[in-house]
Amino acid sequence: MSVGNTNKGPVPLIGLEIHAQLSTQSKLFCPCSADYFSAAPNSLTCPVCLGYPGTLPSLNRRAVELALRVALALGADVKPTFAFDRKHYFYPDLPKGYQITQARRPLALGGRLTFHGEHGQRTVNVRELHLEEDAGKLIHRPGCTLVDLNRAGVALLEIVTEPELRSPGEAKECLRALRTLLRHLRVSSGDMEKGALRCDANVSLSAGGATLGTKTEIKNMNSTRAVERALSAEAARQRELLSRGERVEEETYGWDEDRGTVVLQRTKQQAAQYRYFPEPDLPPVRLSPEFLQKVKREMPELPWVRRERWRREWGLGDREADSLLSDPERAEYFERVVAGGVSPPRAANWILTELLRLWTDGGAPVPAGAMADLINAVETGEISRTKGKQLLERAATTDADLTQLLSGDEVQKIVDRETLAKLAQEAIEAKLQAAEDYRSGRTQALGVLVGQAMKRSHGRADAAQLAELLRELLDSPSSPEA
Ligand SMILES: [Zn+2]
Repeated sequence: MSVGNTNKGPVPLIGLEIHAQLSTQSKLFCPCSADYFSAAPNSLTCPVCLGYPGTLPSLNRRAVELALRVALALGADVKPTFAFDRKHYFYPDLPKGYQITQARRPLALGGRLTFHGEHGQRTVNVRELHLEEDAGKLIHRPGCTLVDLNRAGVALLEIVTEPELRSPGEAKECLRALRTLLRHLRVSSGDMEKGALRCDANVSLSAGGATLGTKTEIKNMNSTRAVERALSAEAARQRELLSRGERVEEETYGWDEDRGTVVLQRTKQQAAQYRYFPEPDLPPVRLSPEFLQKVKREMPELPWVRRERWRREWGLGDREADSLLSDPERAEYFERVVAGGVSPPRAANWILTELLRLWTDGGAPVPAGAMADLINAVETGEISRTKGKQLLERAATTDADLTQLLSGDEVQKIVDRETLAKLAQEAIEAKLQAAEDYRSGRTQALGVLVGQAMKRSHGRADAAQLAELLRELLDSPSSPEA
């Protein structure tokens, strides 16, 4: 583990606060649907999430299960009893006037995440994991602001890392690794664009192990790339201040993606006094050993375990593995193609080059079984790679069924001896030098002729049959070319 640039002046120390929306059907404390993304404004609300007085929250079990999956995967210390607190602040998207969160007795403490960063393998310690409810959304329009409370009360898992990340790039890698984990655990979509995964960060500068200034907080980073850009901008701002002999103040900044700059949101004097106190409507939650066992039993395979299995059993490289693992659907698709009898590196290659491009362009999913048949057909020489790509493209961009395309006329093998003989003859005429070479004893020249004939058949001929026919033609003194 190397810091790398200690000699180039102060290095940033970065901690992340990640909010992941849990993939529960209902909200954290009420039965309203949590699937708010395309719902009509304020249609997914009830007296509980609207904050009416006299209503009682009740905890969503599923949210606890999903949060525990993450805690266990990170090796955190899961507390046998956890509790909720009220965090007070007034804001139009928070009708109760407080948010239910966990301040004193969070779900889990500690843990660590190992990921592959720009300086190789890195491990960051996790400070804590806790559950909390989301706020609503404010929609700013010219002359007015609209409030949509569909998101109010949706279950969030907050994961806080120690300030141990040493560069903006490393912070980005860490966030990506965490997103991969959340997706593999089927805990969150991890979709930053839709706000299902949000990241705040704190950053300070240090030199020679000593902290140089106060940390600042950066909010509103909506992509992994924005995290890297915003932290670079903020580290540069702090470096500049320190180089002028000025102080870094404890402030909160927002990230303006369009302008590529941090914008001051709040100074220390404006920091809110949240006046946390225990949530009186929710008793502390005791986790039974049975419940914890159930969560452990239902844990999906961890991405790093899968990655290691692929490396050990299938010889898959890190880059391919990372790319396949970034989306669990993709990882599972890959495994299904391999199950269809395709060698894993070959399956990875087809998926990451051909299929990914088609999917990015909005192509339809191709069944894994048919995909395996296609790759096998290319490998056995039944069809050429070019033909394979064409068929795949047709299957992905039209309604055509890949299995049917593969058994269709145009990919049927040429078995007719007359057609094969014609192809062989054409190959000889096209590659006269190779034919001559063969006749004068350089038998390896046959390969050139077989290749030529295969090309002319668009990969539909059988190479072994062609070789036999070519030998017959070339060895026979009555051959027209002799
Ligand atoms: Zn509700």
